[in-house]
Amino acid sequence: REALRAGQRVGHFAQALRQRLARQRAIEDGLWFCRGGSGMSLLYQPKIDIRAGRVFGVEALLRWQHPELGALSPAEFIPLAESTRTIVPIGEWTLREALRQKCAWRQAGQDICLSLNVSPLQLQPNNCAPSVLEVLIEECDRLGLERGKIELELTEGVLTDPVIMQEMLRIIRAGFRVAIDDFGREHSTLSLLADCPAHTLKIDKSFVDNVVENERQLAIVQFIVALARRLGMQTVVEGIEHLQQLVMLADAGCDYGQGYFYYRPLSGAQILDLRHQN
Ligand code: C2E
Ligand code: MG
Ligand code: MG
Ligand code: MG
Repeated sequence: REALRAGQRVGHFAQALRQRLARQRAIEDGLWFCRGGSGMSLLYQPKIDIRAGRVFGVEALLRWQHPELGALSPAEFIPLAESTRTIVPIGEWTLREALRQKCAWRQAGQDICLSLNVSPLQLQPNNCAPSVLEVLIEECDRLGLERGKIELELTEGVLTDPVIMQEMLRIIRAGFRVAIDDFGREHSTLSLLADCPAHTLKIDKSFVDNVVENERQLAIVQFIVALARRLGMQTVVEGIEHLQQLVMLADAGCDYGQGYFYYRPLSGAQILDLRHQN
């Protein structure tokens, strides 16, 4: 009987594994099919100037309605888009779509700063696709957009890749802004910040989660903010959900905040209804 139970357990395990692989396969096939942006859309989460209490800019966040699986989280499909390299054409679509939206906002009288998430793979040399920088310049020139109001968000892993750091430098020299996203989530090497030309540090949500209960966590946030200031960088904290968190982060001197406490990601049309500071 024991052997039978063990056999059943293996059977269940194999079935769960098969289901997971089938789902992964369906996502990968869908990504290939949708790489021109079909079924994809962007939402925009406001970024608030904490002291002024007003919307300063927005971050574009990708959404995808899979033909069979329905709405998928970027946390699930972005890693697969990276491993299949479909992130390159999808990322290009995202850049163009977000800049088109930024232009539409401006025509409606709101010149809103725009942040874009970019995967490190998109910054690697690639002969088959235009570079991120080429796409940014082309669209900004075509639409008449100000480069200094566009910021790319790169995760801290790029700091250890010299090829991508070179590309980051070119992007900054061309007049665009760069933020280091999710700072502190992985093993951050502080010494790498010494040579990092980025304008902004986005402090990871994990610090915010227990900043109220945990004094040591707060000490780390205060330290990061002080360090950023000394390095001439601005700070954004992501994932603010409660007033108490906001109060502590404001006291710590953070410049900008983002999170459900202020706004969830909104549609391009909803963004126009907010009170902005231009
Ligand atoms: P991220 O860039 O760190 O974006 C922040 C994520 O936290 C977003 O999730 C946002 O909806 C969520 N968030 C914001 N405020 C709160 C809050 O108060 N509480 C909680 N629990 N969550 C909050 P989302 O949209 O699911 O995106 C997840 C990640 O997927 C992003 O993390 C980013 O790394 C990646 N991603 C999203 N869009 C793109 C894209 O266009 N290109 C690339 N390469 N990556 C993207
Ligand atoms: Mg981001
Ligand atoms: Mg982030
Ligand atoms: Mg994050």
